[in-house]
Amino acid sequence: MTVDLAAIADNYRQLTQRTAGAVCAAVVKADAYGLGAAQVAPVLEQAGAQEFFVAHVDEGLALKPYVSDRARITVLHGARPQALQDCVQSGLRPVLNSLEQIAQLRALAEKTDRPFDAVLQLDTGMSRFGLSEADVKEISENPSLLKGISVSLIMSHLACADSPENPANEWQRDNLKAYAALLPAAPLSLAASSGVFLGPEYHFNLVRPGAALYGVAPNATAPNPLKQVVRLQAHVLQTRSLSKGDRVGYGLTWQAERPCRVATIATGYADGFARAGASTGCVWFNGRKLPILGRISMDSMTVDVSSIPEHELGPDALVDLLNADYGVDDVAKAEGTIGYEILTSLGRRYHRVYQNTSEAI
Ligand SMILES: *Cc1c(COP(=O)(O)O)cnc(C)c1O
Repeated sequence: MTVDLAAIADNYRQLTQRTAGAVCAAVVKADAYGLGAAQVAPVLEQAGAQEFFVAHVDEGLALKPYVSDRARITVLHGARPQALQDCVQSGLRPVLNSLEQIAQLRALAEKTDRPFDAVLQLDTGMSRFGLSEADVKEISENPSLLKGISVSLIMSHLACADSPENPANEWQRDNLKAYAALLPAAPLSLAASSGVFLGPEYHFNLVRPGAALYGVAPNATAPNPLKQVVRLQAHVLQTRSLSKGDRVGYGLTWQAERPCRVATIATGYADGFARAGASTGCVWFNGRKLPILGRISMDSMTVDVSSIPEHELGPDALVDLLNADYGVDDVAKAEGTIGYEILTSLGRRYHRVYQNTSEAI
């Protein structure tokens, strides 16, 4: 598994250019979507990122050694009550998603007699995280609910940003403006990766891309303007010739209609290649497509190599599962899922090589 750090830096720069006038944060939750936050975050910081978002307090604490003191780390889930003190005392900025979380931080501020920086998240229609309209009204009628809390960002999240024509985008944006008007003035944030591509009316003061940094397509209807970041290769373990009628894999679900040659390669569903994708998936060798045959096993899959001359592909050859021409979104299409899920499922078994570490900026 080769992770091209220069491509991540380029993607970050492209996003900052598209969002000039707004701060471009970098979302590095889930270990930078599986690519390794320890390697990825320093490169993003060198490329200019100063704002980092993670999901959990633990992720924020783990990230701290890899970014400078100037970088700010925000915790999307906020902190559970037992972790709140750790969170704010380590300088992590919590996102407050409920009146309960607000009350907990207020109490801590009172107890320690110092104000704390926090983000308020508003639920503008997705019903996942954040203060409801009623919560917002309650705060506007009783501003002391925010005593001891300095609100440095008000944010929400779009449910349908990957479909630009969906009217939900507009009404979520209108809701954000309307609800924020009832709260103390603060910078606003709405867009994640796909939201960046909805245009400047969605950028507000800060954008929060994650997936786009790592090469995932922002929407399904337009060509992907981002660079591919991951190349994934696997070794051929064994090849064999099959006769007409021979079957392949668990359940013997695939049967040869004519004589063919197959290769067993060393990647399986424990490495993030879902069993369900087998019937339409493929891997690549020198630009040639090798269809996956039968079911994917835990540690291996079998592919049709009849199109490759025997002397070109033997045991120990490397085939491509992901490359510049066939990225996570292509695999996702075959597996009936999204690029995000492929990326974050890639597994821990690969030998990882980080490319362009020094010239990444
Ligand atoms: C994960 C997440 C992001 C980043 O989303 P991408 O679609 O990967 O860009 C931004 N904001 C919130 C609240 C998130 O949970």
